[in-house]
Amino acid sequence: MADNTNLHIAVVGAGPGGYAAAFLAADLGVKVTLIDPELNPGGVCLYRGCIPSKALLHVAKLIEESHQSKNWGIEFADPKIDLNKLRTWKEGVVTRLTGGLGQLSKQRKVQYVQGKAAFENSNMLRVTKAGGGEEKMTFDRIILATGSRPALIPTLKLDSPRMLDSTGALNLKDIPKTLLVVGGGYIGLELGSVYAALGTRVTVVEMLPGILPGADRDLVLPLHKRLEKMFDGILLNTTEKSLKEESGGIRATFEGADVKEKEKVFEKVLVSVGRKPNSEIDGLNKTKVKVGPKGFIQVNKQLQTDDPAIYAIGDVVGEPMLAHKASHEGRTAVEAIIGRKVAFEPHAIPAVVFTDPEIAWAGLTETQAKESGREITVAKFPWGASGRAITLDRPEGMTKLIIDSKTERILGVGIVGVGAGDLIAEGVLAIEMAALAGDLELTIHPHPTLSETVMQAAEVFFGTSTDMYRPKRA
Ligand SMILES: Cc1cc2nc3c(=O)[nH]c(=O)nc-3n(C[C@H](O)[C@H](O)[C@H](O)COP(=O)(O)OP(=O)(O)OC[C@H]3O[C@@H](n4cnc5c(N)ncnc54)[C@H](O)[C@@H]3O)c2cc1C
Repeated sequence: MADNTNLHIAVVGAGPGGYAAAFLAADLGVKVTLIDPELNPGGVCLYRGCIPSKALLHVAKLIEESHQSKNWGIEFADPKIDLNKLRTWKEGVVTRLTGGLGQLSKQRKVQYVQGKAAFENSNMLRVTKAGGGEEKMTFDRIILATGSRPALIPTLKLDSPRMLDSTGALNLKDIPKTLLVVGGGYIGLELGSVYAALGTRVTVVEMLPGILPGADRDLVLPLHKRLEKMFDGILLNTTEKSLKEESGGIRATFEGADVKEKEKVFEKVLVSVGRKPNSEIDGLNKTKVKVGPKGFIQVNKQLQTDDPAIYAIGDVVGEPMLAHKASHEGRTAVEAIIGRKVAFEPHAIPAVVFTDPEIAWAGLTETQAKESGREITVAKFPWGASGRAITLDRPEGMTKLIIDSKTERILGVGIVGVGAGDLIAEGVLAIEMAALAGDLELTIHPHPTLSETVMQAAEVFFGTSTDMYRPKRA
């Protein structure tokens, strides 16, 4: 291994991008300083994003399943919710994981500084420490991993405890009787599902014609159908015009061709309309780093900014704003810094919506593949023909393959159904390894599992599905 011991790098921000970068750098012998305002590494993902939301979604799924069990002759009493205990459990999950990262950081001898960093110049940071005091520190290279924060719509800004962003919603202060979720993206739907399971009457308002804009419609449909039953309403083609506080709640005004009820009062409102990169870093103008029109820091395939001493990774450099993208970019940036010939150019970055059912996709969607001008074949395996899905009483799922018609190469995989988030990993591997439909078809999958549906979709492509009759391809 090359000697990297003379190199000292700083990582600003200890989210999944920052701590993955810092830990790899330390493993490769580099001296590392990791700077973040929180007590331990974790960032948005662990403190107020992926992890607390998934802990609560687990509870939501359990409650929903307890309702469904009536169909199988098992009846549970309505759940008694001890909100303090639920909150404590969720916080315990966060503390356990962030504390674990703190330990890993110490074991690797990463210098963890609890504070906020600003630039003095391209190689020097001024760190305002959480415990008080400032320190100037010099580094050979700096990796920016400052992440993102909830986006705000100026017209919907309201200074009221009834207004929530994703962080406020995860704090779970109470269970409101009614909740309006502004924005039908994944964060709004996940958090809306949590509150609906806990007993809140949830309404989602989305200005576009469908929830989860950008996701494949075949995948969205089963989720939409289930959410329609869980939620009070899903208002599409509807713009949230204004929010005004009054004694009993917040009066929301709606506008749009499909609007039936022009205004309604809600106990709480969650605004979840996307995320903004944290690129307004103090003193960044003293460096050569360039920020693009949407606020993302501009980087090349090595994650290097226009300033040769500074790299940037994660949410602050662009979409998709996902934890696993941030971590992989972090590792690539470190390898580039130590001189390895690397580039961040994945064929597939999986995206998962952790609702019930889950939606997951990787590679090209059907629409993207068609837009790229390729000749494609779409193979769909409906879970109504999956033994495992039937045993779970969840036949609404579907596994979909987007296949290059000429080469038979897998270009994209989309899954909707329980556990889709775990199942998609096989699709990611297939795309990255340039697998052909025949590879998936010939790979023996365990029975009875939902993973079989990937193989079964490949069988559909060849017109030789054991579990479904489909006319053969021309
Ligand atoms: C409710 C919710 C649910 C989500 N669920 C998922 C999911 O299931 N799966 C998924 O992949 N993604 C999910 N995400 C997105 C995920 O959290 C982000 O993509 C991920 O955290 C980005 O990682 P990052 O390292 O770029 O930055 P972040 O995790 O945003 O961390 C950045 C850190 O930098 C710190 N920082 C900022 N400025 C400075 C400074 N000047 N000095 C020092 N420190 C600074 C911040 O305080 C923060 O701790 C979710 C997000 C939310 C809000």
